[in-house]
Amino acid sequence: VTFKSLGLDKWLVDALASMSIRKPTAIQAACIKPILEGNDCIGGARTGSGKTAAFALPILQKWSRDPWGVYALVLTPTRELALQIAEQFAALGAPVDLKHAVVVGGMDMMQQCLALSRRPHVVIATPGRLADIIRSNGDETIGGLKRCKFLVLDEADRLLNPSFADELEDCMSVLPDGSNRQTLLFTATMTDAIRQLTEQPPKPGRSKPF
Ligand code: AMP
Repeated sequence: VTFKSLGLDKWLVDALASMSIRKPTAIQAACIKPILEGNDCIGGARTGSGKTAAFALPILQKWSRDPWGVYALVLTPTRELALQIAEQFAALGAPVDLKHAVVVGGMDMMQQCLALSRRPHVVIATPGRLADIIRSNGDETIGGLKRCKFLVLDEADRLLNPSFADELEDCMSVLPDGSNRQTLLFTATMTDAIRQLTEQPPKPGRSKPF
């Protein structure tokens, strides 16, 4: 299996080569093609498996063919993970001038609101800070999220911890319905909460992940 045979464009294969990445990991080999083909996915993978590139590469390719305002929202449980994910999007997206914004606690909220209002292509956020911004800002700040094409739940087993429940619900409430976007979920373990999430019918007026 090569990145090319998975369906990735040359510019992405070249961007990977410039980072000395030449061979897909197992999670990349399994997820890239189905995501490019428009499917939702659940990936079993922990940090270090190459899961970030497994979702970043197909998102970047689809975005490059259909440039859009906020194209993808990536939710992850911690600031450190958000910064690592942002770094990979920045590195892989450099050849196509991808704009991304990081929305996490412990950093200036006004700046993050300003960055969101400029409609970055990819938003990488922790649920707590994004929920705060959603609760206290209008459409000019968060409106771009309403038409995003991808929701990524990174480390979903941790995101679905009850301590995040209200924040996660607030984040999901501004997104398009699950049938109007692709949802990509990555988890180290398959928990009951994840099983329920993928099987549940949507609550009225709420956005369902699948
Ligand atoms: P992640 O599991 O997404 O946190 O990625 C861990 C590290 O592996 C990152 O520094 C990536 O740059 C690197 N990486 C991603 N995909 C590959 C690959 N196919 N081969 C070698 N390294 C990779």
